[in-house]
Amino acid sequence: MKALVIGGGIGGLTTALCLLEAGIEVELFEKSAALTEVGAGIQLSPNGVKVLAKLGLQNEIDAIAFPPVSLDMRMGKSGRKIFSIPIKERAPAQYGAPYYHVHRADLMNVLERALRTRNPSAVKLGKEFVSYEEHDKGITITCADGTQAHGDVLVGADGIHSRVCSQLHGNTPARFTGNVAWRFVVPATPQLKSLVPPSATIWVGPKRHAVTYYLRRGELINFVGVVERGEWQKESWTEAGDTADLQADFQGWATPITALTTQVLQCFRWALFDRNPLPTWSKDRVTLLGDAAHAMLPFLAQGAVMGIEDAWVLSRCLMASQDVPTALQSYETARKPRTSRVQAGARRQMGLYHQVGTLKQLSVYGPMWLASSFAPAFVNARQDWLYAFDVTADTAPNAAASSASRSR
Ligand code: FAD
Repeated sequence: MKALVIGGGIGGLTTALCLLEAGIEVELFEKSAALTEVGAGIQLSPNGVKVLAKLGLQNEIDAIAFPPVSLDMRMGKSGRKIFSIPIKERAPAQYGAPYYHVHRADLMNVLERALRTRNPSAVKLGKEFVSYEEHDKGITITCADGTQAHGDVLVGADGIHSRVCSQLHGNTPARFTGNVAWRFVVPATPQLKSLVPPSATIWVGPKRHAVTYYLRRGELINFVGVVERGEWQKESWTEAGDTADLQADFQGWATPITALTTQVLQCFRWALFDRNPLPTWSKDRVTLLGDAAHAMLPFLAQGAVMGIEDAWVLSRCLMASQDVPTALQSYETARKPRTSRVQAGARRQMGLYHQVGTLKQLSVYGPMWLASSFAPAFVNARQDWLYAFDVTADTAPNAAASSASRSR
């Protein structure tokens, strides 16, 4: 069997690796001339790390990662701690894998190197997918430069503006959430290290929040700041932002935040758009994966991790059945309930971090503080449904049915 994968992001590269591991031939088409990622960090929770470990990449990821001590929430202005969930020691013991922070480019390097080692000719760069055509014997894709390729199955891992999805569904609407994300990465200087906690910290405030965490064994610090803004912004990772606007957005906040926002030389802005779950991902020999299938808001830090989980399940379903449409339906049945739940969960988090006024803040964050002070086990277990999930524990062909039921 031969798979054609469109898109060389985290989802597409992991898919190619999982397919090869399952004994399926693969060609990956990426429109860019090189496999690159934006200069930003990403949180890899244990449910995603378990897949990367199955691919034999745990040591390489470990060498480029930073494992946070805890997952914390603090008041943005006073810096007062609302809760702290220990994760560094607990994740391997309780969830079966570490919780990591990595620089996206570092992760991409690991994935690309692994793929090129396993099949040096699998990656086709500078190949922009334009359309596909199904026929009796399989599927043919056409790229913008006229290149054609034939395979048995087509996987659209081509991100939020997926062309594969457009051909399946036409244009799918995206709503501007009214939130704009700032992001940047700075070197972890001794001064910043003395201020910024070695955890994944959400700093909450009126109509805005920030997230800080370390990358690359503690050499870098990643900042994401989400601010409510009325006006419509472009959905792009690469729009440069004005550092003066960034500083104004977080003026008067706790010292770790202002120290970070005053040291940054270059930052980016990204408008946050929301989408409803698609009605279907698959038709005949075509399916979607990662953001192309289930673009979600970043508030549970699960978008890329969901694509990594998808990749494993898709490869097991294709390994189990030579009948491609049946395998794709099994994949979708297995994955859609879980990714839809995460999409909805991420949407619910959005307002939670942005409470305005002392009364509202007390009524929302007060019970969180009380629960973490007096019932920490309850607070610590809140993300078990996400992190304890082990998509690699099942082996096809029953993977579809059982992982669908476990994730509900
Ligand atoms: P993409 O990364 O978008 O990759 C798609 C690829 O397809 C690209 O390389 C593109 O060039 C290529 N492509 C597109 N069109 C074509 C075409 N026509 N032909 C050929 N190639 C094409 N997720 C987490 O798990 N943890 C986090 O901590 C986290 N934090 C986030 C913070 C922010 C602020 C945001 C916005 C997102 C965050 N996410 C996080 C989500 C995560 O970034 C995405 O879910 C993930 O990068 C999607 O990967 P993908 O491979 O599906 O798509």
